[in-house]
Amino acid sequence: MSAEAPRRMEPPVSPVAEPFWAATRERRLVVQWCLDCDRPVFYPRDNCPLCLGTSLEWRDCTGEGSLYSFTVNHLSSNPTGGEGPFPVAIVELAEGFRMMSNVVNCPLEELRVDMALSVAWEELSDGRNYPVFEPRGGTA
Ligand SMILES: [Zn+2]
Repeated sequence: MSAEAPRRMEPPVSPVAEPFWAATRERRLVVQWCLDCDRPVFYPRDNCPLCLGTSLEWRDCTGEGSLYSFTVNHLSSNPTGGEGPFPVAIVELAEGFRMMSNVVNCPLEELRVDMALSVAWEELSDGRNYPVFEPRGGTA
């Protein structure tokens, strides 16, 4: 554990989400896939929210997607103080599901809906990594 204040509140791990977080230790982004209706299921759940099927398996994602929507948060609710204005984004992954995250390595004024993004990782204190996104191809 670093002596520095954490940059973000670290998410708890529920039993159903344990495989998701385990994969982040290897910097792999995974998603549940419903074998009954052949669709991605995110966030992790015991049942598919579309068909209520229980035949779910974990699949690797490409980590590529696009910016579906975003806002800029000027007042952090993080008790550590956060880092000033930061984007809160909905990212549409290539596999067809959306994830709330942050966009990093991109000036706020360059954020654009539909811009191409790739997953990047922020280290958490317990060996997990938190999926964030950056412009595809790195910093412009
Ligand atoms: Zn289903």
